[in-house]
Order: sequence, then structure tokens, then C-alpha cells
Amino acid sequence: MTTLLETTVCNEKTVITNLDIFCNVLQRHRKYLCKFIEWELGICVDENNKCSDRISQEEIDKCAREFMKHFVICENCLQSDTNILTKVGKRQVKKSEIYFDCNICEHQTPVRHERLASLAFENIVPFIYQNKRGEWDVSV
Ligand SMILES: [Zn+2]
Repeated sequence: MTTLLETTVCNEKTVITNLDIFCNVLQRHRKYLCKFIEWELGICVDENNKCSDRISQEEIDKCAREFMKHFVICENCLQSDTNILTKVGKRQVKKSEIYFDCNICEHQTPVRHERLASLAFENIVPFIYQNKRGEWDVSV
């Protein structure tokens, strides 16, 4: 299997060397992937992408694949060109209404991972605004 996240070891701690590039490619803010890794592995990831423990390459990559499955890959066409948003058109958005929108086939995949949905909800809802046409929209 291809390596997704590259790591190195510094003072017995794992550092993810391409985390920011990886997140840019996936069009997801790094905080989502860092949190996901923290939940999955029970560690902390600091702002320099250094883990609080030594983690194997396999474990880190497993996290990356799970993250993509839950939060990036379109369930319809299996492409990764998607954007996180909510169904717009109303002001009140529920946690169960966090989707990612496919830029290839336009399918909306619901975020079924409870904690990722909560995290996205907390980060998206403050950015809902009324656009010039008077419709409710999100600015993320
Ligand atoms: Zn798609």
C-alpha cells in the first residue's frame, strides 16, 4: 500500500512530516486530521505535527485511510475532490446535516462519524451567513 503520511522520529517521538501538504491536497483543515489521529491513537499532535509518543508508520497510515473514508472520499464515485459543507438554505443546521459535497459527481455524502461530524459542526455553524440573495450560506 502507498504511504500517505510520512514520518520521522525525533527524540523518540514521531513527527508527521507531510501532514500540512496532505491536508491541503485533501482540502481539509489540519485540525480535523490531527484530532482524528488523537482520538484513534490516544495521543496528542502538536502544532509542529509532532506526536506525544512514538507511532508506527502503519498506525499513522491506517488513521489517514480511515479519515479519508469518513471525511473525504465521495461514497458515490469514490473520488477525493470534495468540500465539507452543510445543506444550505436554512439557518438552523443540525449536526446530522454535515455533508461533504463531491466536485466530480455532485453527490452529498453525510459525515456519519459522530466525532468528526461534531467537530465540523462546531467549526462550520459559526460561519453560516446570509448572502446577497438573502439565502443562508456557509463561508467555509
Ligand atoms: Zn462523487
